Amino acid sequence: MLYQKVRNKIQCVLCPHQCILHEGKTGICGVRQNIGGKIRSKNYGLISGFALDPIEKKPLYHFYPGSKILSIGSLGCNLKCNFCQNWQISQISDTNTSRYKTMSVDEMLAETTSIAGNIGLAFTYNEPTVWYEFMFDVAKACKQNKLKTVMVSNGFISKKPLEALLPFIDAFNIDIKAFTENFYHEMTGGALKPVLDSLKTINKNEKHLELTNLIIPRKNDDPEQFSEMVNWISNELGPHTVLHISRYFPAYKQSIPATSEQLLLELYEIARTKLHFVYLGNFINDTFQNTYCNVCKQLLITRSAYKTDVLSLTPEGKCTKCETQILSI
Ligand code: SF4
Repeated sequence: MLYQKVRNKIQCVLCPHQCILHEGKTGICGVRQNIGGKIRSKNYGLISGFALDPIEKKPLYHFYPGSKILSIGSLGCNLKCNFCQNWQISQISDTNTSRYKTMSVDEMLAETTSIAGNIGLAFTYNEPTVWYEFMFDVAKACKQNKLKTVMVSNGFISKKPLEALLPFIDAFNIDIKAFTENFYHEMTGGALKPVLDSLKTINKNEKHLELTNLIIPRKNDDPEQFSEMVNWISNELGPHTVLHISRYFPAYKQSIPATSEQLLLELYEIARTKLHFVYLGNFINDTFQNTYCNVCKQLLITRSAYKTDVLSLTPEGKCTKCETQILSI
């Protein structure tokens, strides 16, 4: 899927890189190759991670809180973040795939439906965009079987493939890595604008959407830029959009010391001036993981180390006290 011929080469149109590939060449993601004048997905059905996770781990806090979801990942990524926490599976050479198992769509569906207490399937761990064909086929099968589907992504995907996928994905967590093109260019090898376009497309199609912003000291922690990002989220996506501000720890090629908790608290205060639901991830104080009604301030959900207690919500996801709609269910 998702390529076009350009004279004696082909162009992959799945993501904004739009790689032009000679015969035998693989794209930036490391998993899509020109073989015989067609794009081949080298990771179709290839599974690098497979676990029943709390939905809060995606993170999704306003979508079936307290539930579990089968979470799967593969290999490859279309960004090159030098701070990647999953670099062992995202930043791969194109030859080291043999130690992972492969599953068919039917096998994956059978696994998903057979696990007691599982609400569906989450595509996560590596970047699911570069697993597009398998994700598309499995997500479609899941929806035919009334299972929930989740995509945890960097949002760096072209508009047409995103729109084609939307009918089969219920909820997204998208990383908004920073609010400057400079950060995306220097730290990820990508670009901000296509990510913002994806967010608008997902939101316009009324899919459940939560955002994650990993704060790296001196790289994307400028309060003015952060404030601009929060304003954009509030204006373009709505003040109800859930934002997870996450604490960075050194990983992969990045050795900058971990983000201070004080900095996270300052950014939290900025975000709360525009957004109703802001959470702090990788943070010591559980209070910032709890959900409060944005209208009457009643405590609705408590969370501690992936233990979630839904206290004061109706079955329809409304606050029991003032009936404000809180959840997307
Ligand atoms: S998905 Fe991979 S091959 Fe296709 S344009 Fe993006 S990086 Fe290039």
